[in-house]
Amino acid sequence: MSTNDIAVVGAGPVGALTALGLAQRGHRVLLLESEQELPTAPRAIVYYWHVLEGLDALGVLDDIDAAGIRNTAFRTRVLATGDEAVVSLAPLEAVTPRPWNIHLGQHDVVRIALDHLSRLPNATLRLGAPVTAVRQDGHEVVLDVGGESPGEVRASWVVGADGARSAVRTSLGIGFDGTTWKDRFVATDIRYPFDAAGLGNANMMLDSENGCVIARIDDSTWRWTWGESAELAADTVMDRLPARLAALGFPDVPYDVVTATPYRMHQRSADRMREGRVLLAGDAAHATNPTGGIGLTSGMYDVFALLDPLSDAVHGSDDAPLDAWAAERLRIFDEKASPMATASKRRVYDDTDRDALVGFVRGSAAAVDDAEAVRRLSAMTVLRSGFPRHHTSFVS
Ligand SMILES: Cc1cc2nc3c(=O)[nH]c(=O)nc-3n(C[C@H](O)[C@H](O)[C@H](O)COP(=O)(O)OP(=O)(O)OC[C@H]3O[C@@H](n4cnc5c(N)ncnc54)[C@H](O)[C@@H]3O)c2cc1C
Repeated sequence: MSTNDIAVVGAGPVGALTALGLAQRGHRVLLLESEQELPTAPRAIVYYWHVLEGLDALGVLDDIDAAGIRNTAFRTRVLATGDEAVVSLAPLEAVTPRPWNIHLGQHDVVRIALDHLSRLPNATLRLGAPVTAVRQDGHEVVLDVGGESPGEVRASWVVGADGARSAVRTSLGIGFDGTTWKDRFVATDIRYPFDAAGLGNANMMLDSENGCVIARIDDSTWRWTWGESAELAADTVMDRLPARLAALGFPDVPYDVVTATPYRMHQRSADRMREGRVLLAGDAAHATNPTGGIGLTSGMYDVFALLDPLSDAVHGSDDAPLDAWAAERLRIFDEKASPMATASKRRVYDDTDRDALVGFVRGSAAAVDDAEAVRRLSAMTVLRSGFPRHHTSFVS
């Protein structure tokens, strides 16, 4: 008999939420994380209004809401002309009880999910436990785990949520085709008074030289994500940062860089998201450039749609819905998420057609009073496959 019903590999946001949802359904869950200390590098910070219902179903929304900030509008500006659209989410009151996005570092989302997980007696988190290989027969999956306490782990089912370089995916020989962008992004957490400079909580600045995304993290700290050629040396990013900030034309006042992390970006997806008793989710299954915040949004929708069919399969029900899940999540990434993120990146960072950019911004500005138009502008509801059932009996 297997020790674990489910082993989840990777305690990023996708793995942590998956482990939580499955443990809430009463399964014996082991969550394996390669790092001794949970990663805190600056990555996702925006959770759109349409994923909040799923986070609520997992019981973590109140804590995420309390720790983060609510944002009720987003702004798109053509840097060179000053043309601007400010889209309020208020009209969405017609379609959701929560017409706001929440801003919070994804490591805090992980911390909250793991805090809830720690209250469940049927869940275990092992840090410093990198999975190095995966094999399976028709009944169980065996994971080779390295680190300080190496050995084998057995589970009836495995969810590989171990990020874009997934060892689970690689070990199963599942391809990860697509492209790597020639440029890099620099995720910069910075204390600078962008609000005094006229920005709102979430801003896309469109410009083929100095395009960037600026989003508030807390009272004083902002995420400023800017791009540059990957041919420049990654270790001299800090040398170029002052000129890049000055080029935005904001007041020359003191600022404090908390962290600046260079990233390469990809548009890639796995050949398949299911191989027997192993499922891939989140960045392990699909990676996108982060413009527009589509990466983790897609990962969360993977989780929301996976929990109930996987739980049913653990209980011995027909596992065909897992094939449907895998096919649907991959289709949505390839047909919707990846093209949307690519279009968003091109618009913010690459497009040299200023008239087209101004036209886009004016079109957005014209749509602001209409719930359906605002829904289209924050169009990521098309990434959704479903929400988990609420589990009112969970302990967390
Ligand atoms: C600069 C930047 C900004 C972003 N902003 C947004 C945003 O605003 N909104 C949004 O939706 N998305 C955003 N994204 C994308 C988002 O960060 C990713 O989609 C998200 O991190 C994916 O979560 P994950 O849990 O699938 O993978 P990861 O976050 O990569 O987590 C994987 C986990 O697995 C662990 N691991 C790796 N290998 C192993 C192994 N062999 N064994 C055990 N554990 C392992 C890792 O240590 C890690 O903890 C952004 C990305 C970047 C780079």
